[in-house]
Amino acid sequence: MMPAASPRSSALPWLLVAALALAAPACQRSDATPAPADPAGLDVEAGPADTLAIPDTTDERPPLPDGFVRLSETAPEIALEIRYATAYNFVGEPIDAYLAPECILTEEAAAALKGAARALARDGLGLKVYDCYRPQTAVNHFARWTGSTDESMKQAFYPNEPKGSLFSRGYIATRSGHSRGSTVDLTLVRLPVAASVRTDFPDPADGPLPACDRPLSGPTGPDLPGGGRLPEGDLDMGTAYDCFSPASATDSREVSAEARRNRQRLRAALSAAGFRNYAQEWWHYTLRDEPRSTHYDFPVE
Ligand SMILES: [Zn+2]
Repeated sequence: MMPAASPRSSALPWLLVAALALAAPACQRSDATPAPADPAGLDVEAGPADTLAIPDTTDERPPLPDGFVRLSETAPEIALEIRYATAYNFVGEPIDAYLAPECILTEEAAAALKGAARALARDGLGLKVYDCYRPQTAVNHFARWTGSTDESMKQAFYPNEPKGSLFSRGYIATRSGHSRGSTVDLTLVRLPVAASVRTDFPDPADGPLPACDRPLSGPTGPDLPGGGRLPEGDLDMGTAYDCFSPASATDSREVSAEARRNRQRLRAALSAAGFRNYAQEWWHYTLRDEPRSTHYDFPVE
């Protein structure tokens, strides 16, 4: 493709820059302006699981520490909705060291998760992950935020919990098992998994946020004055992801029977694959035989 040296060759570096600029969308951050989506906010335009868009891996990605993999490369059938790479989380801004919406795990945890997805697929179900390996720098960002006065995301993540108690109640800690690379936050979805991935999120600047511990409203639940919980997938899990509330405890009786069944279905699938659940959070699972004990601090990219 490259022409031999000619008077035009001085323009080649600029052509290269232009070509790279055209290739840039593969590297865009997930908090960029989202594409228009359906009213429910779920990207139902996406294709079936086996055609789920796989990030372009032809670009040079930074190598990971030995023994770690990107789930997008080893298990593209599992959907990614990496919230800490977006502003829709309890802090209200992308979290430090989340440079791309990737799920990085130890090889063992990624393989176990792939096995869980394979078993669930027989029943037309799949997995969507919200967070995986979490750098210590990100955990430090959480700790820094707890010392600030910001409560912009309160309604959506800790509607009934004083911000000052998030540390003492165990919702936030100065160390996280996620930093060891074998812990994952995830939910159960119907196939195709791509249809459950949210691409747009409420902005507190546009009005009150949906409360994370309310029932869903609309076609999957009662219509509530002031609106219901944000739909995050097509299976009701009773509370939203990262909802700091007693109702998020996996066996909570505060949620509907249907939501309890869905939580139990997720727990059964993950337990069979070698994970144990953190009883206070229906979405949080750690591989029982964790291969690493180090809290790592390389970026998610
Ligand atoms: Zn977690």
